[in-house]
Amino acid sequence: MENNFDTIVAIATPMAQSAIGIIRVSGESAYSVVQSIFSKKITPKIINHGYIVNDSKKIDEVIVLPFLAPHSFTGEDVIEIQTHGSISIINTILELILSKGVRMAQRGEFTKRAFLNHRIDLSQAEAINEIITSKNSKSAETALNNLEGYLKKQINIIKSDLTDLYSKIIASIDFPEDVNEIESNYVVSICNDNIHKIEKILNNSVSHDFIRDGINACLIGKPNVGKSSLFNSLLNYTRAIVTPIEGTTRDTIKETINLNGYMVNFSDTAGIRDELEADFVEKIGIENSIKAIENSNIVLFLFENNPDEIEKNLFEKAKNKEIILVKTKSDISRFNQNNLRYDFVEISSLTGFGIDKLKEVIYKKIIKFIPDDISYTANKRQQFCLNNAKKSLVNVMKTAEFNCEADLFAMDLKSAIIALDEITGEVFTDTILDDIFSNFCIGK
Ligand code: GDP
Repeated sequence: MENNFDTIVAIATPMAQSAIGIIRVSGESAYSVVQSIFSKKITPKIINHGYIVNDSKKIDEVIVLPFLAPHSFTGEDVIEIQTHGSISIINTILELILSKGVRMAQRGEFTKRAFLNHRIDLSQAEAINEIITSKNSKSAETALNNLEGYLKKQINIIKSDLTDLYSKIIASIDFPEDVNEIESNYVVSICNDNIHKIEKILNNSVSHDFIRDGINACLIGKPNVGKSSLFNSLLNYTRAIVTPIEGTTRDTIKETINLNGYMVNFSDTAGIRDELEADFVEKIGIENSIKAIENSNIVLFLFENNPDEIEKNLFEKAKNKEIILVKTKSDISRFNQNNLRYDFVEISSLTGFGIDKLKEVIYKKIIKFIPDDISYTANKRQQFCLNNAKKSLVNVMKTAEFNCEADLFAMDLKSAIIALDEITGEVFTDTILDDIFSNFCIGK
């Protein structure tokens, strides 16, 4: 353990009645404080079963898990107490520990200590929060890969190349008699190579938000075409009101479905009618449809008969989106598909015909936004650092191509290395740490 921090405590489970509650203590006095309120001698490396006591009065029957420094999450002595999940019991034990001079932990302070004690790097610390806040399996999978060090490994490969180049350049500047001048071609090729590696990570990361927050999709079509019915079929329960009266769905309703581990945020919009014949409320509905198209990545156009001019105009508004044409009510009438430019599916929400096929087509569209083989991504902060590193390397290349003095491009090369150091946390400021850890839960 390199840093000497005070001892902190937090409740690590949600403050709600539950089967168990976990209280976590970390720091130099963690062991002695918990020992002073535990009924038995705490033995390291085993599960200790006993009672939390206050002046010999039993408070709860608990399990105490001691993790001794440096082999703990924070790198300090950490004790976890598993209590029964009563809010009152958890609070009583917390108060008792606080009364022994232990301080309440701030958000993410346990993970911050793990980082400051070199148990994990900054990209791994960020991955922990991404795992906790993940809402679907793909998001959890990529975050877990980053916790295992996928991103860190890629960054370190680039950093190692650049640091090696930097050392050679500095040696050639400092010892011109002993070390040959570095060929500008060599500098350019190393930079080029590493710019490509950075771009590969950045390309992967375009999917970051889609993986985390989902892909937006909307259902567009005339009133009564069957939007709400399809919406309900996709969600598998009745959320939107289905009635035979035109214009029932006046507001935009939003729901998320999980398709093979990916999230799709669907909105069911009001029906599209000719604006001139639409009443005031429906006009707002039409505007909502247009807004929904703008905010969507995938647009499902529903129709019963051949699309008319109004519908064709709407296709125009969606021409830069992924479009799926959906012929509804196939139990009543079928559609002769000929030479369509878009993916096309026939469905019946009444019988369920075509719904699985439609889900498959939607999945194929999702994969266009999130390639199947993505195993890790960089978050916004990390992307910012990668872009800075790339800019500096482009500058190095430009200067080297003009055969300028080595000390001119050495500065830019150093900036690129520092930008990468900010991702892994070799270089950080209090503001960077505050920004990152203030988004964590207390107790993590
Ligand atoms: P929306 O206005 O586009 O949201 O349309 P709705 O989903 O409210 O459906 C309008 C009417 O069409 C309702 O009476 C539904 O029961 C009916 N409907 C919807 N889908 C189907 C279908 O697949 N087959 C049949 N026969 N009727 C359907």
